[in-house]
Amino acid sequence: AHVQYNQKHPQSRENHVEACRYMPGGNTRTVLHTTPFPLTIDLGRDCHLTTVDGIRYVDFLGEYTAGIYGHSHPVIKDAVQMALESGWNYGGHNPLEPQLARRVCERFPAVELVRFVNSGTEANMMAIATAVAYTGKKKVLLFNKGYHGSTISGNTSAINLPHEFVVGTYNDVEGTEDLVRSLLPSAKDTLAAILVEPMLGSGGCYAGTPRFLGSLRKLAEDANALLIFDEVMTSRLHYRGLGSQTGVTPDLMTLGKWVGGGMSFGAFGGRRDIMALYDPRSGSLQHPGTFNNNVFTMAAGIAGCDLLTADKLGALNHLGDSMRQQIERVLSTRAIQGTLPAGPVTDDMQSPQHPRCPPKMFVSGVGSLMAIHFAGPDRDLLQGLFFHHMLESGVYLAPRGFIALNIVLTEEHIAQFVQAVEGFCDKYDRFLIW
Ligand code: PMP
Repeated sequence: AHVQYNQKHPQSRENHVEACRYMPGGNTRTVLHTTPFPLTIDLGRDCHLTTVDGIRYVDFLGEYTAGIYGHSHPVIKDAVQMALESGWNYGGHNPLEPQLARRVCERFPAVELVRFVNSGTEANMMAIATAVAYTGKKKVLLFNKGYHGSTISGNTSAINLPHEFVVGTYNDVEGTEDLVRSLLPSAKDTLAAILVEPMLGSGGCYAGTPRFLGSLRKLAEDANALLIFDEVMTSRLHYRGLGSQTGVTPDLMTLGKWVGGGMSFGAFGGRRDIMALYDPRSGSLQHPGTFNNNVFTMAAGIAGCDLLTADKLGALNHLGDSMRQQIERVLSTRAIQGTLPAGPVTDDMQSPQHPRCPPKMFVSGVGSLMAIHFAGPDRDLLQGLFFHHMLESGVYLAPRGFIALNIVLTEEHIAQFVQAVEGFCDKYDRFLIW
């Protein structure tokens, strides 16, 4: 597969060689790295991406969820172009800020007041800093496989900021209660915040159970800690955010990705009494960020929020549910046995002797977000083969199997994807059985 890939993408390879001269591994965004080298893209239109070698793909990655509008959406393009006409970097307020802020607060009931930043990473860093300042405590509970940005993750191989992180197991109610109870001298004295995604996004698209999220609400209350929902990815899974569907209201919520219309964006917000810490007239905290109110993001965000009505999001999530059902049907007719996991698959589960051994290939997700997984000793190899097979079939997705649908995709594109999955299963069927 690599020989074919090399021959098909000479310009991408050349670009990678050039990039390697100036950036570590030719990369400034770890998640885009793939072997033998990543594709270089220089055109995005509707739901298609075209590489520098002139090869066109249907985009199922959707810029890791920020690209929900598809590419070069005319409404967003117009909004940014209008902003372009009037200049930018004013070093002053602009009239677009309250317009985007109103949309965010009206949409997400947990957000009474909001502040903008430039990435999801920054949003979570600020939310943690807010909780530390508000509670006067330092410890932050987060979860294994949780991802909250470049410097905040439950993954032990990530570079984490020197916060006092305590790492729990996602969806494990009793284990998490025990963990919180074990904090010394007590959680009440030490725990500032619980930071959690309502669905693990980068961690594999596994939804949090209402019981789990509800138990976190209670744990936070008992410890006088703040509950923070990271909805950077999941805010698209329901008009009011995925968390709203569980009946649990967080104290703070972080946003990013699509809410900025596809420009650099992040936001943190929540309870009025907490966010009032940032009121320059009366509060004690500063948050001056040069690009917090940047005109392009404000303009694109307003246009984007208006595009994504509840109906539109509902239709997109429905398309995702239908896609997952079709993939499940393909997999189920191929005797790929195992128990569908409710959370991240651990190493010990990946053997047919284990009572909860997952299928060797399966799909997880909610609505428009999903991931295709492989299990077993050859999982990395299969994941790589799958990625290259899908590229060969004209489909672009994340090397790790992550998929985020955009509003330009149609049933026909879904059919193309499912057919490609079917082709993969036919080709590698003997490797998909335990
Ligand atoms: N939180 C979650 C849940 C995310 O998925 C991400 C990005 N994938 C982030 C935070 C960080 O956002 P950004 O990449 O914009 O820093």
